[in-house]
Amino acid sequence: MARNFTPTIVNPDGSRTIHVHRYCNGCNRNIGDVTDAEMDASIAGLSLPDVREECGCIPLKTPVMGATCTFGSGKTVWEIVKVNHNQDGTIKDLHLSKYLGDGYTNRWAQVSEIRNLKAQTLRVSLATILALREEAEKAAKKVQDTIRSKARPGQLMEIVGNTNSTLANYAHVYAIHLEDVAKEAEAQS
Ligand SMILES: [Zn+2]
Repeated sequence: MARNFTPTIVNPDGSRTIHVHRYCNGCNRNIGDVTDAEMDASIAGLSLPDVREECGCIPLKTPVMGATCTFGSGKTVWEIVKVNHNQDGTIKDLHLSKYLGDGYTNRWAQVSEIRNLKAQTLRVSLATILALREEAEKAAKKVQDTIRSKARPGQLMEIVGNTNSTLANYAHVYAIHLEDVAKEAEAQS
């Protein structure tokens, strides 16, 4: 699972919307936005789910979105951007994209073909960026459609407001991703 790192948002009226982040139960690292299930558990006073495998403090056994791996005997490192499941819940195949690459090269792989599975190290994975990009495109398209349908100013402003926060979130999270990619690339060189 890949998480967002939603910042505290300052609303037009000056109030702030705070997004709670989850800290790893193994190493106390900030691993991103809290999930609904974690929030519910916290409010109910229950213990939070174990996130050590997601964080990477304990070895990863199952391929998950945002994790990295190599393919066959190759040395190229890939990020898992999508995990497809069969109806019985087992993994059908994996969609990979070159790790820290710029061109978003795509390849499909079977679980048996991947090696060196490692937990996500970037705060924001490419998988998250791809999902947010799709959301941002949809939001922008909605504004275009609304204008085309000659919507009244009030209705239009409401949609513009919603779109603004979607686009701002995408831009913000994308910036964090690029920052991490640059840092990681530097560490590897
Ligand atoms: Zn940890």
